[in-house]
Amino acid sequence: MRDKERSLAMDTNLDRRAFLKASAVAGAWAAASGCLTPALRALAMTSSPPLPVTGEWIASTCQGCTSWCSKQVYVVNGRAIKIRGNPNSKVNGKASCPRAHLALQQVYDPDRIKTPMKRTNPTKGRHEDPGFVPISWDEALNTIADKIMELRNNNETHKYMLMRGRYTYMRDILYDRMTKIIGSPNSISHSAICAEAEKFGPYYTEGLWDYRQYDVVNTRYMIIWGADPLAANRQVSYYSSVWGDVLDSSRIAVVEPRLSATAAKADEWLPVKPGEDGALAVAIAHILLTNGLWNKEFVGDFIDGSNRFVPGREVLEEDFEEKHTYGIVRYWNLELKNKTAEWAAKRTGLPVEQINRVALDYGRAAPHCISWLGGGPSMQVRGAYTGMAVHALNGITGACDNVGGTLASNKEYTGKFPEPDDFMDEIAKKGKKYEKIDQRGRKEWPCINAGKPGSAVITNHAADGILKEDPYDIKVAIAYMNNFAFSCTQPERWERALSKIPFLVHITTNASEFSWFADIVLPDTHHLFEKWGYVKSIGNGYRQVTIMQPVIQPVWDFKIDETEIPWLIAQKLADRGFANVLNHYKQYKDPETGKEPSNEKEFALYALKYATQNLWDPANYKGGDRFNGWDEFRKTGVWNSDPYPLRKRWSDMKTKTKKFEFYSETLKEALEAHAANHNTSVDDILETCNYQARGEKAFIPHYEDPFTLGEGKEYPFLYVDHKSRLNREGRSANCLWYHELKDVDPGDVKWDDVAKINPVDAEKLGLKNGDRIRIISPTGQLECSAKLWEGVRPGTVAKCYGQGHWVYGRLASKVFGKIPRGGSSNDVIPALYDRLSGSTVRHAATKVKIEKV
Ligand code: SF4
Repeated sequence: MRDKERSLAMDTNLDRRAFLKASAVAGAWAAASGCLTPALRALAMTSSPPLPVTGEWIASTCQGCTSWCSKQVYVVNGRAIKIRGNPNSKVNGKASCPRAHLALQQVYDPDRIKTPMKRTNPTKGRHEDPGFVPISWDEALNTIADKIMELRNNNETHKYMLMRGRYTYMRDILYDRMTKIIGSPNSISHSAICAEAEKFGPYYTEGLWDYRQYDVVNTRYMIIWGADPLAANRQVSYYSSVWGDVLDSSRIAVVEPRLSATAAKADEWLPVKPGEDGALAVAIAHILLTNGLWNKEFVGDFIDGSNRFVPGREVLEEDFEEKHTYGIVRYWNLELKNKTAEWAAKRTGLPVEQINRVALDYGRAAPHCISWLGGGPSMQVRGAYTGMAVHALNGITGACDNVGGTLASNKEYTGKFPEPDDFMDEIAKKGKKYEKIDQRGRKEWPCINAGKPGSAVITNHAADGILKEDPYDIKVAIAYMNNFAFSCTQPERWERALSKIPFLVHITTNASEFSWFADIVLPDTHHLFEKWGYVKSIGNGYRQVTIMQPVIQPVWDFKIDETEIPWLIAQKLADRGFANVLNHYKQYKDPETGKEPSNEKEFALYALKYATQNLWDPANYKGGDRFNGWDEFRKTGVWNSDPYPLRKRWSDMKTKTKKFEFYSETLKEALEAHAANHNTSVDDILETCNYQARGEKAFIPHYEDPFTLGEGKEYPFLYVDHKSRLNREGRSANCLWYHELKDVDPGDVKWDDVAKINPVDAEKLGLKNGDRIRIISPTGQLECSAKLWEGVRPGTVAKCYGQGHWVYGRLASKVFGKIPRGGSSNDVIPALYDRLSGSTVRHAATKVKIEKV
């Protein structure tokens, strides 16, 4: 037993297993930080104190992060007082992460927007008070409809833009259908600032443009790359609940420059130099092959059984007979043969012995081992190839689709909303054909989502499109549950871009940095307590479809972003002679009665029943949980799939060869298609997009030097950005508990916002704990406090994302509208991209200097 756990267990008279289980139900987070304070215990224990007998548990869903856990809310007299995991869920069960509880402070936040508002100050800018005044829903909706009709009447519908932040799978109603029927190509999602980069590596190796689930209870070794499953990567509730047992059954190595919550509990911490993850990944692959530790059942073997993977030597392809993979020998010859532990040690700053030990222990556990790809390695300028190199380890070890390995999504049976085509008139069809405002598909923006050039969004770059009016100006925009003026890197560009849009509507719960530039702000519902919707998520070998429903009496005058508001806008458009959107929405009939919706409330409910009918209607049963009808499904709150069909995708992957591709014919086809679109070569595309690969190397996982901004002498530190266990997507900063409990994040302190600096560096800078510092990069600066901490490698400075709001609420900011509380990482991270995926870069690219304030 680790010392910290022993003392905690003794304090509470629990043995180790009971202690871990008790804390895991509430989140292994408390144990990891050693902070089981009374305040935390009150949040964590779902059975104490006793609950009032008058209430009831009602099912809904949490979207505090991308885990999307099925939940139950304890409601007394119409008021939510407690949250727990939904025991009907096979993904997360009763488990709950700590930040789920912060949702109570969000929903009853006195700083929420309570009524529609309009701007009275026509001048827009960060230092311009918008002068918002309350207006009726009717006035707000009439104004919005008038502005859309102006575009329609002038044949300028392409100048309409929809920006999407946090969504449910009701998203297409507003994001897709309404945008198309109005006649615009500009539905811009937040995906590329979120976790989209993670999908590139799995897609161009095993044809999976998706997140993975990990069979952690059956695994024997995990290498976790730039992910922190106890804090931030998906399925935090589930992983937290089983991690105590996993620590007993598996060894865990965490690759991250900062001692994360997961690293603090791991067997090995590999504090890699930022940007050098790829060097470690290819070295591990080299060690696996030279030691004969590839999985023969999945990969195949040399025909004569003798291992020819000898350092520095090429291998003949015909000597190796592959089974469910493609290109292992080419991968060796083109990339791996010289990538020894010694080579990687020089780049990563990690000891040769540790690299060898981790690689060998990991390989000996094959196929019950996991290479867990997070945002750390993939959200880098050349992260596409690093992601491939990290995920390729799952191919070498045969962990794909295997017991104790990495799994895809189980099948589910929700339906699509009706297609919009019949409701798109000539104006709409013409408008839809224009180039998108984020410029995806241009030579310098391949954005090859799932094999299609120009198909991935470049969220953050849309700001530059708007600013430069390239390809055109945006005149009317609606955005919901996003905050690009805070959540995108180099957000000052967004402040200027949003100031340029003549008419901007923001649908949101709190007046955020984005709202500051809006002409109309509409009060949104809180997803967990006040809206109809559903989402899908995976974990524990299952997929779930979990619904959100209104569980409390609304306190103020909110409407649902993805259903009620578009319906109401559609009605106003119909009043003005353009009924196509409304007529389209009227097709979403109640599957039980066949009745078409007549108002926004009916529409919200019918649309959800429509999309989920195959799950709850016994006549449409296709698999997974069975229900007698809608009412039973609604009360249960979640549908669970059948268990995961292991190994079913072996040699049936969605790659060009159907195999796991170490030499990616799938990537080759996509890159060649993009090059052909621009009459050039793949090499030219890669050079234009800042990659180093040329020739055949473009199609295999490989190491590339990190790309950083900032000259070494002037900017001596690499900036490390990370997420908090309390981070509800950057929306926690107006919650008291966030500040009160901030020290659950290793190295952080309560009621402050700190940058963690290694004591060796701090001494050189003459810094001590609590000193106010300014962190300056080539593109911006922030202010916070210094925290001396050995959990960050020398030469780097680590800081948590989430603070630095200058609006959002009276607690989130120091002086609302004027002075931020803490500093935002995005103010120092430059707007850079991994251009093959379109993803925003957050890691290993920012060099900074530190000054005492
Ligand atoms: S914050 Fe994330 S992990 Fe926690 S309950 Fe909500 S969705 Fe699940």
